[in-house]
Amino acid sequence: MSNPRIEVDLSKIRHNTEIVVGLLKARGIRVTGVTKAVCGHPAIARAMLDGGAAGLAEARLSNVKRLRQSGITCPVTLIRTPMLSQVDDVVQVCEASYNTEIVVIAALAAAAIRQNTVHGVILMVEMGDLREGIMPQDLGEIAQQVVDMPGVALKGIGANFACLSGTAPTAPKMQALSILANDVEGQFGPFLQTISGGNSASLPWAFGARATGRINDLRIGEAILLGVDPITGDDIGGLYRDAFTLVAEVIETDAKSVRPLVSCADHTLARIQLVPDTSETTRIILAIGHQDTDAAGLSMPPGSTLIGATSDHLVIGTKDATLCVGSEMRFQLNYGALMRVMAAPDIQINLRNDRPLPIAHDAYGLSKHLALV
Ligand SMILES: *Cc1c(COP(=O)(O)O)cnc(C)c1O
Repeated sequence: MSNPRIEVDLSKIRHNTEIVVGLLKARGIRVTGVTKAVCGHPAIARAMLDGGAAGLAEARLSNVKRLRQSGITCPVTLIRTPMLSQVDDVVQVCEASYNTEIVVIAALAAAAIRQNTVHGVILMVEMGDLREGIMPQDLGEIAQQVVDMPGVALKGIGANFACLSGTAPTAPKMQALSILANDVEGQFGPFLQTISGGNSASLPWAFGARATGRINDLRIGEAILLGVDPITGDDIGGLYRDAFTLVAEVIETDAKSVRPLVSCADHTLARIQLVPDTSETTRIILAIGHQDTDAAGLSMPPGSTLIGATSDHLVIGTKDATLCVGSEMRFQLNYGALMRVMAAPDIQINLRNDRPLPIAHDAYGLSKHLALV
C-alpha cells in the first residue's frame, strides 16, 4: 500500500447514514447526503445512498459530473449558488439548485428551455449565518418571479446555519422558516416539496423534543462522514468517528531538541543550548504537508504533539520509541483536514468494506457452484 493514504471504511459511512436517517425519519425529515468534503467521491456517495439518503447535494459542478460519470442517477442538488457561467451544465447534471440571485435563476430558466427541461429552484433564505441567502422580507417577491418564469419550478426554500458566523440554528429560527414556507405557499400557490433546515449543525435541534414544523429536509455531510456535531465537536451518539484514517510515513527520526536551534550569534542563548536535552521526546518527520492536508486538523496519537508543518513535511514530537524510518502513523481528521486530503493528488484513497457483491441467485445454480469451489 502506498503512502500517504486515506483509508475509508464505507461500512461506517453506511452505518452513520442509517442512524441519522432513522432518527430524522421519526421526525418527518429526510436526509440529503452532502459529498463536497469528499469531492463527490462516487463510492462514498453510494454508501450514503445505501444508508438511506434520499438524494445528494454538492457545492461544485465538477464533483457532480464525477458522480454522474460513475453512473449515479439519484437527484443531485447544487447547494452553492450556481455561477452564471455554468448554468447550461448545472441544468444538465442537477435536478435542482439553491439560488439567491434572480439573474442566475433567469439564466437557468433560459438554459432549461434550450434543453427542453425544467430546472428545480430552491430559494435560500438568510436566517442569521450571513453567508448566502435572500432576506426574508424579499422572499415573497422573488418567489413570485420564479413561479411566473417558464423553465424553472419553485421546489422549496432552505436556510443555512453555522457556516460563516457559527450561529447555531435555534427553534425560533426554524419556526420562522416554517412560517415563511406557509406564507410562500399561501401567496403563490405551489406546494413546496423541500423545506431544508440546514446542515449537520441542525441535528441537535432536529433530535430535540420540539416540533419540527414544516422542515422536511436536512443537508448532512460532516455528521455522516465524521460522526461529530460541527459546532461543539462532540460525538453524536451511535455514530463512528473513524470512518476515515489518514496514514503517513516516517522519513526521519532523531533526538533533536524540540525547540528550534538558536542563532549562534546570540551567545547567551547559545550557551543555554549546551545544556543537554533530557526529555525523551523524539522529533520525527512524516512525508505529508500543507499541500496534502490541514496539519492542525489531525488528531495526534497519545504521547505525540504537532511541532509544525511545511508544504511537504509534518514534524511531530513523540515519546513513542518504536517509530522508525518507514513506520506508519495513523491520524483521525477534522472536516477541514479531510477536505484537503480528499482533494490532494498525492494521497491514495483506499476503500474498505465496499458493498458486498450481490449473492448469486439460486435459480442460476451459481451459489451452489460457488459453494463447491
Ligand atoms: C457544506 C454545506 C452543507 C453540509 O454541511 P455539513 O456541516 O457538512 O453537514 C449543507 N448546506 C450547505 C449550503 C453547505 O454549503
